[in-house]
Amino acid sequence: MTDSFHFNVIGTVESPYKEKFAIPRQPGIVTAAQGQIRLTGSANNADLVRGLSQFSHIWLIFVFHGTQAQGWKPLVRPPRLGGNKKLGVLATRSTFRPNPIGMSVVKLDRIELQKTEHQGSQVILHISEFDLLNGTPIVDIKPYVPYADIIADAQGGYAHQQPTSNIQIIFTALALTVIEKHSASTPKLRQLIKQVLSQDPRPAYKQKQTDNKVYGMSLYEFNIQWQFDDSDTIKVISVEASNS
Ligand code: SAM
Repeated sequence: MTDSFHFNVIGTVESPYKEKFAIPRQPGIVTAAQGQIRLTGSANNADLVRGLSQFSHIWLIFVFHGTQAQGWKPLVRPPRLGGNKKLGVLATRSTFRPNPIGMSVVKLDRIELQKTEHQGSQVILHISEFDLLNGTPIVDIKPYVPYADIIADAQGGYAHQQPTSNIQIIFTALALTVIEKHSASTPKLRQLIKQVLSQDPRPAYKQKQTDNKVYGMSLYEFNIQWQFDDSDTIKVISVEASNS
């Protein structure tokens, strides 16, 4: 019996989330982000996805490549518990795990076979409702099968329900002007900013507190600055396209 295995990456994620900060903590929460998985190497073959488009959702098994180098510890502090209680890493969805493997159910919007130069083709899975950093390496994809994967009476422990939020998001006129200017290329940008911020992306120990700090986050090619106006209102101060 071998005690280690080697897996090849079969695809790479293109995501609007270019840094860890502000990525939703689970899939299914933010619906306005659009991403792609481009199959790579010998997995970039239309045969691998034959029949997959019948499924609305897929399981992604992936590597937490952005945090892998930081290693892991047996105990972690889940943000869901305010970041001040330690639980065993295997009782959490922490990215810092003995093997840096993540799994997410995401929406499969469509599959594209893109013609490339030299008569080749690129398999692209268009996805939404994901919680993945740009560049995430995918090691497996499986169809989501409701009869087997939904467990209606399952107990969700300390994370039984999706966190609720009553945070309102407001925009300055300046921010709205930039969003409007880019509405043809990024039509859901305003909705995406609202969905991401209403989850309060700040570290767990700051949640439910008012602070005056101006935060920055990046979505697609936009740098976005925002600040709490009061305890339940976030103001989007500016949106700047990094390539303009
Ligand atoms: N749904 C997956 C799971 O349960 O295995 C991931 C849950 S994990 C709590 C979600 C967080 O992982 C995101 O909010 C983001 O901060 C982080 N993340 C996503 N992709 C990552 C990557 N490739 N490397 C490191 N961290 C990543």
